Amino acid sequence: MIIKQRTKPVMIDVDEGLLRRLPLNHRKRKKVADDLAIRQVGFQGEEAIDYYLDKLPKQHLHIFNDIRIKNRKYHFQMDTLLLTPSFALIIEIKSLVGTLIFDTNTKQFIRVYHGVEEGFQDPIMQVEEQREQLIDWLCNYQLDSLPIEYVVGISNPATIIKANPGSEHIYDFVLHFDYLKQKYLELKKKYPEPQLDNQQIKLLGQQLIQSHTPLIEDIHTLYGISEHDIQRGVFCPVCKNRAMNKIYRKWRCPSCRFESTTAYQQAIIDYLLLISPTITNQQCREFLLLNDRRAATRLLTSSGLPFTGANKGRVYYRKD
Ligand SMILES: [Zn+2]
Repeated sequence: MIIKQRTKPVMIDVDEGLLRRLPLNHRKRKKVADDLAIRQVGFQGEEAIDYYLDKLPKQHLHIFNDIRIKNRKYHFQMDTLLLTPSFALIIEIKSLVGTLIFDTNTKQFIRVYHGVEEGFQDPIMQVEEQREQLIDWLCNYQLDSLPIEYVVGISNPATIIKANPGSEHIYDFVLHFDYLKQKYLELKKKYPEPQLDNQQIKLLGQQLIQSHTPLIEDIHTLYGISEHDIQRGVFCPVCKNRAMNKIYRKWRCPSCRFESTTAYQQAIIDYLLLISPTITNQQCREFLLLNDRRAATRLLTSSGLPFTGANKGRVYYRKD
């Protein structure tokens, strides 16, 4: 049973918003576009696992996709977590193509692609760290007796996995998605005794969902992009013209004449993702290039965003 579905990473929305709103000659457009491409490939790799997870025996299996939780001061993120009454399995997903070479002696992880060698962060170390963090986090709920295993799942069947001499043990836990079922069944045999009852599983699942906080990085820290670089206005979804006009309750594109009642919604989302996680009526008017305070109130109210405060003191929040 899938308890937490995988959703598109918010950072993909952030990159897409930046490409919409940065001037066409902005020096960071290429970096943003490159990052977006990497994130999209990663997300596709993560989505590809769903087909294989669907083949696992469903009984007593709880699946959490893309879960990011805070432990002590820092967050840790797991691509997929399988929870059963007798063990948990963390799956770190890698979408790299080419040949992946693991060397646990020199602690190196190398990808060779089209004859070019490139070093990457070692996914085994990454998933071992996630395991440590999860064990530590489970202590808060007195559930640290639950055995936690991990694998690195390689999403592309054409990717070749190699271990240097002395590192062959990595084949036990670096595997193509095709072998996930076999690994899962092995673990079920290895851990026959339930450690958690139904109630504990349910509570743990709720805690995982409640503790999940998606990663939204600040564009200034991440790319060195200032909010002054972000172009304001409601953009036409058809011709991408950057200044639709508000006429009564509609937005009209002066260029292609397209009319929309909802085009402003993307602008509010862009503001909350790119500029600030909160928005006031005045900020909304400034960003949407709107003079009418009451019109801005209508738009913000109908956006369904959570808010605090009343009248002029009202602040609306991004839904995380
Ligand atoms: Zn247009």
